[in-house]
Amino acid sequence: MMTDTIESRLKMVRDRIANAAIACNRDPESIRLVAATKTVPADRIRVAIRAGIRDVGENYVQEAREKIESLKDEEVSWHFIGRLQTNKAKYAVRMFDLIHSVDSLKLANELNKRAAKIEKVQKILIQVNISGEKTKSGIETERAIDLVRQIAALGNIAICGLMTLPPYFNAPEKVRPYFKSLKILQERIRDADIPNVGMDELSMGMSGDFETAIEEGATIVRIGTAIFGERKIH
Ligand SMILES: *Cc1c(COP(=O)(O)O)cnc(C)c1O
Repeated sequence: MMTDTIESRLKMVRDRIANAAIACNRDPESIRLVAATKTVPADRIRVAIRAGIRDVGENYVQEAREKIESLKDEEVSWHFIGRLQTNKAKYAVRMFDLIHSVDSLKLANELNKRAAKIEKVQKILIQVNISGEKTKSGIETERAIDLVRQIAALGNIAICGLMTLPPYFNAPEKVRPYFKSLKILQERIRDADIPNVGMDELSMGMSGDFETAIEEGATIVRIGTAIFGERKIH
């Protein structure tokens, strides 16, 4: 059925991104779509790439490693959007252009060390636990600016912005306050004028709430289900 292909779903997602951007006077080109591909096999990711996807986001290092190998002939940027264990930092710096989920100095130090070894400057986002839920990863909002200051001192790390994973995804109006809070934090960090810190990117918004995220300033949306269909439990 035409409405169920990756191509047609992707087109629908792109149209919705463009409409949301235009509705709030933003340039649709200023919003990057990262296809969130956990559990999606490489051949289906390839279909999305052939349909124009340029950014792919994975949650697990081992799973990503196999897919990156299978898709090495394709031109895409690989993003890491899952929880990163320190002992995987070595692999992560070799594999990913942007790591969205840095939330501790310990992890940043390890990434810095591993990036230095391969003469890379690793781009990262700081993941913020904007809702303060105990079970969520991410640095607490109040501690974020201090973490940014500490990580900014690391020579092989480039901070590019912030990421969050709010509660209640699929209930966009409930999520809106969290998106607003991340934007406010971004402005506060910008105002602090910390050397060696870029604060342009806001990675927020998933299948259930990306239009709201765009209204609140997202520059990167991470979308899986709306492109690939429902996932089986990982
Ligand atoms: C799975 C995942 C997404 C995409 O979620 P969908 O609801 O399938 O769009 C986005 N961000 C992160 C961190 C994820 O793990």
